[in-house]
Amino acid sequence: MTAMKEKLRRFMAGRYGTDALNQFLSISSIVLLLFSLVTRLGLFTWVAFGLLVWCNYRTFSRNISKRTEENYKFYTLKDRLTGRLGGYQKMWADRKTHRYYRCPQCRQQLRVPKGRGRIQITCPRCGTQFIKKS
Ligand SMILES: [Zn+2]
Repeated sequence: MTAMKEKLRRFMAGRYGTDALNQFLSISSIVLLLFSLVTRLGLFTWVAFGLLVWCNYRTFSRNISKRTEENYKFYTLKDRLTGRLGGYQKMWADRKTHRYYRCPQCRQQLRVPKGRGRIQITCPRCGTQFIKKS
């Protein structure tokens, strides 16, 4: 048993191992496999297989700096996506009390209370003033 462990340790020495992106890849491939079983679409099986191959390639890769960079990019993408989803969630939650506008100048999103008639809005970022019905 210990010999086996030692072999594995030696094999993994200098290799990248697992990270958040690899966990995401393996989970996605399992989800896709289940999806392919339900829908009986062979395409999902192939995509799942592809993700699994990519995940293994990254785990055993010796190019550690490149893999770390990929993982970092994955985090940035994930943060941006969850940030955007959170924004939409908030918009949906107070859709009855507030309206959302975009500044015509700088595209900054502005939140305005509903039901005040025509109001002048001042963008806090660039100072542009515009009139909207709230
Ligand atoms: Zn603005």
